Amino acid sequence: MACLICGNGTPAFLCEAQLYPGKTMNLVQCPSCQAAYYDPIPAWEEIAQCYPHAYFCDFFSQYWKDIYKGRFLAESLTAWKPTGRFLDVGCALGSLLKGVLDYSDWSVVGVEFSAPAARAGSELNGVEIHAGSLGKCPVQPESLDYIHMNNVLEHEADPAGALEAAFTRLKPGGRLHLTIPNGPVDLYPTRALFAKDGKPRVTRHGGHLFFLSRRSLEKLLRRVGLRILSFRNFHFQSGLKARGLKPGAWKLFESDLPVIQADRSESMALEELKKRIGEPPNWSLYRLKSLYRRLWRLSGTDFGYDFELIAEKPSRAG
Ligand SMILES: [Zn+2]
Repeated sequence: MACLICGNGTPAFLCEAQLYPGKTMNLVQCPSCQAAYYDPIPAWEEIAQCYPHAYFCDFFSQYWKDIYKGRFLAESLTAWKPTGRFLDVGCALGSLLKGVLDYSDWSVVGVEFSAPAARAGSELNGVEIHAGSLGKCPVQPESLDYIHMNNVLEHEADPAGALEAAFTRLKPGGRLHLTIPNGPVDLYPTRALFAKDGKPRVTRHGGHLFFLSRRSLEKLLRRVGLRILSFRNFHFQSGLKARGLKPGAWKLFESDLPVIQADRSESMALEELKKRIGEPPNWSLYRLKSLYRRLWRLSGTDFGYDFELIAEKPSRAG
């Protein structure tokens, strides 16, 4: 079968991996674009097994971090356009959305896969959040100026479909802001350890179905009709670790992980969950650190663990 990402190459067996502890599957890789993914693509019930027990609670602990991320983003959005409509895919509680809303003249909307998180988030942050997938959400075609998709695409069973859904909802000239692991680096320990002792491993972050190289991302975005404006690479320390170049880096992969527990937070009251939100950190300090970190998002390398890219839906005239 042709590659699900580029449509050209015929993927071949790469290694075995554990989708989640105890579930071994084959990974294949495309010789043309180097995209790697599970074959077959796991069924929905299997994918649902991947999400860690603290999936929902953690969103409360990182509340201020997400608000500040949104506040920081509000600066660059406003510099680009004074007003617009912003969508966050995989928005969790919508805290980033609230940061954008409170510190800009943009309007915001979110899509969150977990229905309990979407419900709790709408209540907590007072923002519009649709539960489910971008493809099925009631956001109108050509209604959005900016779509933020942070660590979402690698979890999608159909990345091309997810990007098509984003493309449809963007206005001409609208932008997609994609953050995604550097596939070959994300997969490095899994491959290396499988080659060494033939034992399948649990990937670093449970639930990654696709491992996309720079080339495969370029091909995929072009297929969907998006034009890449910038393509940066970052998280170089994690890049070192993934290659096993830091002491003890692969310890996590050598040991068997405990079986994932059910998420108890779904049944917890919002008031109880709110107690996990701490005091707001110092904004000026956060902002300075973010500006500094941004200096280390580089375009000429693929060494780092993550990619950040901005793509544009071309205007009809162009
Ligand atoms: Zn391919």
